Amino acid sequence: MSSVNGDQPANYYNQGGPPDPISYLRRLSNGEDQDLQQRTDSADDDDEYFLNKSDGDHKPPAAKRRKSTKTSPTEEPPARERPQPGQAWPHRENLSFTRSLIFYGTGAVTHEHERACKNIVECRQLRQKYFGSEGSKIANPDALQECNLQFVLGEDGVMEVYQASDVGRKNNLSTVPNVEEFSKDYHRMVEMVNEGFMRSYCFQRLQLLSSAFRTHVTMNGPTESLEQGNLLGTDFYRTMKIDNHIHAAGAPSAKQFVSFVRNKLEKENDTIVSKDGKTLGQVFKEAGLDKDHLTIDAFNVLADYSVYQRFDNFNAKYSPFRMADMRRIFLKSTNFNGGRYFAELLKIVLNRHETSKGHVSGVEMRLSIYGMEREEWFELADWMLKDWGGDFPGTMISPSNRWMIQVPRLWRIFRMKPGKDGSGFNEMLENIFTPMFEATLYPDKHPKLAEALKHIVGFDSVDDEGAAEESCNCQRPHLWTTPKNPAYWWQLYFLWANSEVLNSLRKARGLNTIAFRPHAGETGNPMNLACTYMLCESIAHGINLDMQVSLQYLYYLDQVGLSTSPLSNNFLFRKMADSPFLKFFRRGLNITLSTDDPLLFHMSDDPLLEEYSVARATFDLSMTDMMEIARNSVLQSGFEEDFKEKYLGKDYRKGVTFCDEQLTHVPLIRAKFRAEHLAIEHMFCALIAAGKGKAVLQEMKTQFGLARDAHRNVLFDNFEEVPLFPEQGQL
Ligand SMILES: [Zn+2]
Repeated sequence: MSSVNGDQPANYYNQGGPPDPISYLRRLSNGEDQDLQQRTDSADDDDEYFLNKSDGDHKPPAAKRRKSTKTSPTEEPPARERPQPGQAWPHRENLSFTRSLIFYGTGAVTHEHERACKNIVECRQLRQKYFGSEGSKIANPDALQECNLQFVLGEDGVMEVYQASDVGRKNNLSTVPNVEEFSKDYHRMVEMVNEGFMRSYCFQRLQLLSSAFRTHVTMNGPTESLEQGNLLGTDFYRTMKIDNHIHAAGAPSAKQFVSFVRNKLEKENDTIVSKDGKTLGQVFKEAGLDKDHLTIDAFNVLADYSVYQRFDNFNAKYSPFRMADMRRIFLKSTNFNGGRYFAELLKIVLNRHETSKGHVSGVEMRLSIYGMEREEWFELADWMLKDWGGDFPGTMISPSNRWMIQVPRLWRIFRMKPGKDGSGFNEMLENIFTPMFEATLYPDKHPKLAEALKHIVGFDSVDDEGAAEESCNCQRPHLWTTPKNPAYWWQLYFLWANSEVLNSLRKARGLNTIAFRPHAGETGNPMNLACTYMLCESIAHGINLDMQVSLQYLYYLDQVGLSTSPLSNNFLFRKMADSPFLKFFRRGLNITLSTDDPLLFHMSDDPLLEEYSVARATFDLSMTDMMEIARNSVLQSGFEEDFKEKYLGKDYRKGVTFCDEQLTHVPLIRAKFRAEHLAIEHMFCALIAAGKGKAVLQEMKTQFGLARDAHRNVLFDNFEEVPLFPEQGQL
């Protein structure tokens, strides 16, 4: 079989694009007329199930007979053979394992399918326009590096950047599509994914992908396990997993938290913890709490039935003993003690990751920026970079953690603050973004924030997606003065638009960029997922994709990351038995496991291991499945390139089959299965959209007809060895 082009676009994962299509379909699309016999032979490398006996009465015609060129299984090159330095993986292109083939029957390409595929192409172009930055414009790339640029939040609610010499602010250096354009595109997207023919097509494709996975595992599962067992030197515990959806305030387990508080009460009873001069001991005493109350049950932080479908009760669980004071003292980075207890608690959590206690892992913890005050960023940077000394020396920068910033959608709270009656949404945007722009453009002015930003890899948007919201049309932020919550898509657009401009500056200046990875599809309107499909690299949760098959298929095609937390869902919005995790995983979505809030949901000090362990038992996952989920977590994470190369292999950017199976412990067979099916879906969709579907189908019918004949002929060849059976005349 001719080889796949190895020179795939760099940064495939970051751009959300597909891998190169398989060569067979590519040849067809180019209209090249290949010799049929040659193609039939080319399948020799892949298919294991033919016998070679060719005598007997029912000899198939010579033209259709398979040549006996097959090497015996013992001569097969091992899938795990190592490449020479600088070379591609040997046998990557024609790895031998049993393929599960799907026959696209008569009627598989109709007029409706063509319309569906055209929609898919258009939806994917919209993702490219926003997430892929194709709609963003940089007027003068060199100017973005200048040191005295000016910026201002424009009328459109998006930061505008000007050269110092541009006094009249005429030439905005970095522009993105405005909210009107986004609104139009978003509503077009919603319209497209909801069309009946699109849903039918996507549903059919997803069902076929499920079947293909089941068949693959049935036929190749034992081989995958064997291959995995032969990859010596590492195992599940020693392979990197990233917990890439976890909130810092919920990161310690309840057990760690209680023992920390007990320790503090013993050693720091007299430490002053509030503005009015109260000591820790006094706070507990006044609340009527003594050391007998220091139990997990009394703390009342673990999630229970009271939080199901109740985001308000869930939020209250963050306050131990249901006391806001306790939350402020222990789980906030800004308080009387400068957030020292919070820092110490997180250092205990981080230490387990740094020392690989339990297993090898990393985290991406979220800290909040609320947008209530301009000072928030500077206080947070101080907290991140302070050397805490004592028993917990060093800053909050850890080799095992990359920080993320979550922006809660709390407009209604901001608007209720004293003196904010006439305020517009633009004030919140300024509080969130102005400090970041200043620290990016003038690092000398805000050295700590400039440094802290280097350790922040992503933006998140969080809150209850089920909360009531007001439709916004294309309202500009300064005109949004009602206390009602603006729509999800509208808020996300402004977070995206401002980060897009910020990232253009940071990129031009050789700084790290900040990805957009919000919470989406946990509950509420499934169309939130249409918005995140257009804007985001990956999302947290995404379980509502099972309510919208068109979006689910688009997330699959573009391998948009889903960081799901089945245990969290189980307590909040979706019981384990109804979790779509397994369905998504089988279909090949880029899905992984994460913990969300160990403080509330997990029982052990290794919450990520607990999450994997529960998933393994609940969804009956094989160790190959587990390793694939772990690999996805590293791919989705914001850890730097050298980190990813260390844990995935130096060529990982080219696609999953280029990951080093010795490092990821995902056998090449599995990676190849995933890559081939993804490529087929891309090709099939593109060909149907281009009106070539019927020709492809015709060719497939011929090929499958030949395969069916071959199968039958082999049976006839061996007829004499089979005892009489009633169906023999019906083959
Ligand atoms: Zn979360």
